[in-house]
Order: sequence, then C-alpha cells, then structure tokens
Amino acid sequence: MDQYRPPLRDIKLVLEHIAGIDEIITYPGFEHVDEETISGALDEAGRFMAEVIAPTNRVGDTIGSRFADGSVTTPDEYKKAWSQYVDAGWNAVTGPLEYGGHGFPETVGFAVSEMFVTANLAFSLNAMLTGSAITLLRDHGSDDLRDLYLEKLVTAQWTGTMVLTEPQAGSDLGAVRSRAALNDDGSYRLNGSKIFITWGDHDLADNIIHLVLARLPDAPPGTKGISLFLVPKFLLDDGGGVGERNSIQTVSIEHKLGIHGSPTCVLSFEDATGYLIGEPHQGMRYMFSMMNQARREVGLEGLGIAERSYQLALSYAQERHQGRAVGTAKTETSPIVDHPDVRRMLMTMKAYIEAGRALLYDTAAAAEHSHRHPDEAAREDAAGRVALLTPVAKAWCTDVGVAMTSVGIQVHGGMGFIEETGAAQHYRDSRITPIYEGTNGIQAVDLVLRKLPMGNGTVIGSYLDEIAALDAELAAGSDERLLAIRAQLSESLDHLRQATSWLLDRDDPNDVLGGATPYLDLFGTVAGGYYLARLALAALANRADSWLDAKVDTAGFYATNILPRSAGLLAAATSGATTLFAIDTADMDAR
Ligand SMILES: Cc1cc2nc3c(=O)[nH]c(=O)nc-3n(C[C@H](O)[C@H](O)[C@H](O)COP(=O)(O)OP(=O)(O)OC[C@H]3O[C@@H](n4cnc5c(N)ncnc54)[C@H](O)[C@@H]3O)c2cc1C
Repeated sequence: MDQYRPPLRDIKLVLEHIAGIDEIITYPGFEHVDEETISGALDEAGRFMAEVIAPTNRVGDTIGSRFADGSVTTPDEYKKAWSQYVDAGWNAVTGPLEYGGHGFPETVGFAVSEMFVTANLAFSLNAMLTGSAITLLRDHGSDDLRDLYLEKLVTAQWTGTMVLTEPQAGSDLGAVRSRAALNDDGSYRLNGSKIFITWGDHDLADNIIHLVLARLPDAPPGTKGISLFLVPKFLLDDGGGVGERNSIQTVSIEHKLGIHGSPTCVLSFEDATGYLIGEPHQGMRYMFSMMNQARREVGLEGLGIAERSYQLALSYAQERHQGRAVGTAKTETSPIVDHPDVRRMLMTMKAYIEAGRALLYDTAAAAEHSHRHPDEAAREDAAGRVALLTPVAKAWCTDVGVAMTSVGIQVHGGMGFIEETGAAQHYRDSRITPIYEGTNGIQAVDLVLRKLPMGNGTVIGSYLDEIAALDAELAAGSDERLLAIRAQLSESLDHLRQATSWLLDRDDPNDVLGGATPYLDLFGTVAGGYYLARLALAALANRADSWLDAKVDTAGFYATNILPRSAGLLAAATSGATTLFAIDTADMDAR
C-alpha cells in the first residue's frame, strides 16, 4: 500500500544541524516565530499531506486532468483536497503578513513543500508555480498590482503560472516571439502562442494569474529585449473581484509520460489584456531573480519522489518473501529485505535521499541568510553560496530522484513494472524533473561557466575549504566508524579539487562544457558525503537516541559505497572534448 509517512524526524534534524534554523529565527521579521511553533506547524503539515493530499496521488495518475471544449477539468478528489489546502492556510505559510501570509521563514516553507511534493508531485506544482508568481510580484510588481493580486495568490484563492516556453524558445528564451503593445489606458495587449504551461488552465480556483514573457515593439533582440507581464485569465471588476474573461484560449493539454494530474497546456494569447511588471526589457532579469527559488524547489521534487519510492520499496521488501537468507532455517523463507543485494538497494536509496535533503536545505537556508542576515558581508557570502549550490541542488537531486525511483521498481521485481503497486508511477513522475526549470545539462553549464569562476574561484574555494575543515572534527571523534568516513571524504574531496582546478584552468571552452555534467555529479556526490558526515557527528553528540545512531551507519554506507565514484567522475570530468567530437556528426549515423 503506497501510504506516505512524513519523515519529520529527518526533516527536523536537517533544519537544526544543517540549515541552522535556530539562527534564522533570530533575524528581524521572525519575532513571532519560535522553535516550538515551527515544530508544531511541521507536525500538522505532515499530518495534512499524509491524510489529505497523498491519497489523491493515484487518482491523479489514473484519471488525470482532462481537456474538453476549451477547458481543463481536474479529478473531483483534487477539488476537495485543494479547497482544504486553501482553507487550512498551507499556501500562506511564508507569505508576507501584510498580504495574508503567516510570515514563517522560507526554510520552514521549504520543509512544508517537501511534504507536499512527496505526497503528490503533480498536484503540488500548482502551489509551486503560485509561489513563483508571488515572489515575482512581491519583488518587482507595482504597488497597484500587488494590492490587487498578491493577497489572493498568497492565500491560493487564485493560482499563478510561469508562461515562458514557445515552440522555438525552450532552453534559449532569447528566441521568444510573443508580442506586447501598449494600449491607450496604460495596459498592454499580448499576442502569441505558448506551450508546456503547467497548470495553465484548471477548475480549482476562480482566477489564474499568468506571468508571461513577451517583447515590446522597440525590444532589442535576444534575452535583453524580453519584458514580463501579468495577464489574468479573468480581468478584475471595479471591486477587485473576478470580472470578464480575458482573451486567452486553452488550445490543448499534452499527453505525457507522467505527472498526469498536472495539466500541461498550450495557451494562445489573442489581444489579451496584460500589465507590465517592473521596467520594460527587464523580464529575464526578474525571472532569474526568482529562478534560484524555483530550481531549489524542483530539486526538492527529485528528493520527494525518491523518498516516496523508498518508503514503498521498504514496506514491500519487508512483506515479500523469497528464498532463504544466509542462516535462515530450511523450513522458512526470508523477507527479501534480508538479502544483501536488496539491502544494498534500500541503503543506496536511503543514503542518497538523506544526502540530497541536507544539500537542498543548506541551499535554502543560505538563500534565507542572503536576504535576512543582519551583516552585509554575511549576506554576500550567503548569496555566493546560493548561486554556487543551486545548479547542483537542482540537477543532482533530480538525477538522483530518477535513479532512485528506478531502484524502487527493482526492489519490487516484476511487481515494480506492474502499475498497481504505484512504484512505476513514481518513476514516470520523476522523469520530468531533470528537464523543466532549466534542463540538467543547462544547470551543469551554468555551474562550470558562471559559478566556478565567481570571485575568481573564491566562492567554490571557500566551500571546498569548509568540507576540508570537517576532517579535524572527524579525526577528533571517538567512534571508529568515523575513520572510514574521514578517509574516503578526504580522498573524494581531493578528486573534486583536482577537477575544479582543471576546469578553471582550461582554455578550450568545449573541454569545460564537455566535462560539465560529470563535474556536477562529482560535486553533488562529494557534497552529499560531507553533509552525511556532519549529520553523523551531530548524531554522535546526541547518542542517547538509537534512531540518531543510524545516521552514522548511513554516512558509513555512503562513504564506502557511493563516495568512491568520485575517482571515475574525476576522470570523466577532466577527459576533455576530444572524444566527444572525434566522430563527425554525419558519421554518428553510419552503422
Ligand atoms: C511537463 C512539462 C512542464 C513544463 N512546464 C513549463 C511551464 O510551466 N512554463 C514554461 O514556460 N515552460 C514549461 N516547460 C518547458 C520546459 O521548461 C522546457 O521543456 C525546458 O526548458 C527545455 O526546453 P526544450 O524542451 O525546448 O528543450 P531544448 O532546449 O530543445 O533542449 C533539448 C536538449 O538540448 C540540450 N541543450 C539545449 N541547449 C543547450 C546548450 N546551450 N548547452 C547544452 N545543452 C543544451 C538540453 O539540455 C536538452 O537535453 C515544461 C515542460 C514540460 C515537459
């Protein structure tokens, strides 16, 4: 049975020992928040996601969102769950107090989001995109637009979308062709065709607020000529309520590999009325300011779906009996969890998930420090860390998500391939996460071309030094399990240092770009080992709890079974582009 059990102890451990939530709540603006309130809110969020949202996951996959007569209909179960979500105020956890939010730290909202995406990824995307719209409007919208739209979005009475992609403009948004022209009353009329718009139409809310990229008539070419517009599905009446329908047609929805509950829409804007956000031609700059947040959240999707897949695989492995494990009486059979190879699969899932969670929460906390820390230098340091870690958190955690949901199927044997267990849905649903919000290939390019050279290599340098500094703490620990962790982390860190220097010193850009993906994998792998070692040390400091002691063994498994991959990844990351281009494109098809 695919039930969701929120991993609240793990989430709270990471919030305390990796994210440093104790420090975050001392920042101005969080006077109304304390540890007890946060802990209670997370318990309640976990209960809500497990009892109300998780049961909608299967029906979202089998029935899905449907399209007929120009509009989208969601499953009835979605409607009930969404109205409970809105009424309970879960969308407003981090929203500004003056716009109906509860003003909790973003890092706490991140934990609530983890449980939402894990309970039902496809469904949670509606809230995730609404969150992106809130950030853009809060940071760049005029007072008038904020007053009209923000509170309804914060409370999720209305939902938001990100409308960027066009058939010829995917990774390269500089190719956007949609047009906007000024009306006499100061509004704009938008024309163009947009594809792949998540939750672009639905029946869960009274209004949908689209944030659309388009070009003004005098726009320079490329990304420097793109502006951002707010275009509501329904225009507002004089009282700020829902008025007449805007001229936006839902042309169709896509038939997809997974996330069937999330309608992926083709939208046509035909003289639709919109309002400029911020300054003309600054749309991409605004989008980038929000993108780090969105990319962390997609990384969280990779983690969440791996967690759900792990929970399902573990319970199956405890129930399914096959063969006899070593030492089992001849008259008995063993649960497959007792076979070493099944153990290996489950431990691999557990270790990657816990490593990914720590990496993601560290990145989310750094974002919070970068906005809220009272000291300017500390804010700048944190901003550098967010910029460095975001592509790794997005790409590594989503690649891990796909790999681990595949392992989740393998644990089930043949039943994993059969839809009724639910293992296959997790695998199918996970596959989009390395693609949207900037493909993982684009994340790797961003990491090696833009992030490594930041501050002449000082940002990456200080992160690597931080990992190195853990060596002394591991050496001082009395538990002998730390020895293996220390030795392998030190060796793998050396591999990451070598690859970093090689990429920073390289003149041929194709060498750097060719090594980007294995380098990102190497980075994530070593960072994962670092965070698990920190959690092991934190666990040993609180030895009384046997659950915590398992963190030392998880770090030990990761150190002996996963970290050694760093040697192979170093070789691939520094192999240059020669072998990539040795065969002519024409000859690649010659068989
Ligand atoms: C289910 C789903 C939901 C989506 N939701 C939204 C949404 O809500 N709003 C929205 O605007 N868009 C959305 N998208 C679009 C999504 O963001 C794009 O699909 C994605 O950015 C990739 O663009 P593309 O599909 O055009 O692929 P392409 O850009 O054509 O890329 C194809 C391949 O080439 C690689 N590639 C391309 N350029 C480079 C380069 N310079 N260097 C190295 N490799 C490169 C890519 O990594 C990829 O592997 C969604 C897509 C899907 C499938």
